[in-house]
Amino acid sequence: IKRIGVFTSGGDAPGMNACIRAVVRTALYEKLSVTGIYQGYQGMLDGNFTEMTSRSVSNIIQLGGTILKTARCLEFKTKEGRAKAYENIKSAGIDALVAIGGDGTFTGAEYFSREYDIPVIGIPGTIDNDLYGSDFTLGYDTATNTVIEAIDKIRDTAASHERLFFIEVMGRDSGCIALNAGIAGGAEAILLPEKETAIDELIDHLSAADGRGKKSSSIVIVAEGDHNGGAYNVAKKVKEKFDYYDTKVSILGHLQRGGSPSSFDRVLASRLGFAAVKELLKGNNRITVGVRGNEVVTTPLEEAINNKEYKLSPDMLELVQVLAI
Ligand code: ATP
Repeated sequence: IKRIGVFTSGGDAPGMNACIRAVVRTALYEKLSVTGIYQGYQGMLDGNFTEMTSRSVSNIIQLGGTILKTARCLEFKTKEGRAKAYENIKSAGIDALVAIGGDGTFTGAEYFSREYDIPVIGIPGTIDNDLYGSDFTLGYDTATNTVIEAIDKIRDTAASHERLFFIEVMGRDSGCIALNAGIAGGAEAILLPEKETAIDELIDHLSAADGRGKKSSSIVIVAEGDHNGGAYNVAKKVKEKFDYYDTKVSILGHLQRGGSPSSFDRVLASRLGFAAVKELLKGNNRITVGVRGNEVVTTPLEEAINNKEYKLSPDMLELVQVLAI
C-alpha cells in the first residue's frame, strides 16, 4: 500500500474529524500518502480529492461535523457508479480506503471491495450507536451529553411551571441515546424502539408518580423510533386520557448531531483511526475496527452489516423504573 483514501459518509457525527486526523497522521508516520475524499462516495464519483498533510488536520480534533464533508450518493448503489468511482480512485493512485460512517457506508464499502481490488477498513461513525462490532460508535457519547444538557435546561421550566415534558431524541432503531440520556437526566419514563410501551401503562406510571407528589418535574424521553409514533403522538394520547397535566413537547432534532466531541469520542476516534491504518498495513481487508471492553477489535464488514446488536442492558431498563419512585 502506498496511498490511503479516507472519507466520511452518511450522517455526520462528532469525532469524525478527530478520526480523520488519526488516520492521516498514522499513515504519514508509516510513510504512506493520504488522499482526502470529499463528500463520501459522491466525491469518488466526482474525483473531488485533496492531498492530506499533517497540517491539513491541524486544529480539528475539537471540531464537530467533518472537514471532508459528507453526502448521500444514490449513484454509488449502481454497478456503473462504482465503476466510475474506481476509475477516479485508480487515477489518483489510491490503493486502500478507510470509510468512516454507518451501516449504508459499510454496505457500499463491502460491495466496492468485492468488485475491485481495493482493501477497505470501516470505522463506525454515527451518533445512534446502532452498529454491530463495537460497544460504541463515534459521536454517540457526545450526542448523549448534548441531550443531557438539554434535559437539564428543560427540567428548569418543567419544574417551575409544573409541566409534563415529552422530549424526543434521535434513535430510529436504537434506544441507546434515549436510555442513557434518560437515566442520566433523571427521566420519569423512557420510550424505546426496542420495547413496546402501552400508553395506558405510561399513564398509570405517571398518575402513580403524581400521587406521590412528583408532578413538579416530570420528563418523559421518547426515542424517535418508539412504537407510539414519536413525542407528539405520545403527548396527544396521554392528554386524551390524563388531563391533569399541562403537557409540552420538545423535539431536540439536529442539535444532537453537532458540537465539539467529548473526550471519550476524541480518544475513541483517535484509537480507531490509528487501528484502521495498522490493519491495512497488516494486509487486512473488509473489516471494521471497534472497541469491546477497552480493547480494539475487528469484525468482518459482512458480519457488521448483517447483524444487529442489542445494546440495552436489562439492569438499565429495570433501574429506570426503580429510580423513578
Ligand atoms: P447513518 O447511520 O448516519 O445513516 P450511513 O452510512 O448508514 O450513516 P447511508 O446514507 O445509509 O448512511 O449510506 C451512506 C452512503 O453509502 C449512501 O449515500 C450510498 O452512497 C452508500 N450506500 C448505502 N447503501 C448502499 C448499497 N446498498 N450499495 C452501495 N452503496 C450504498
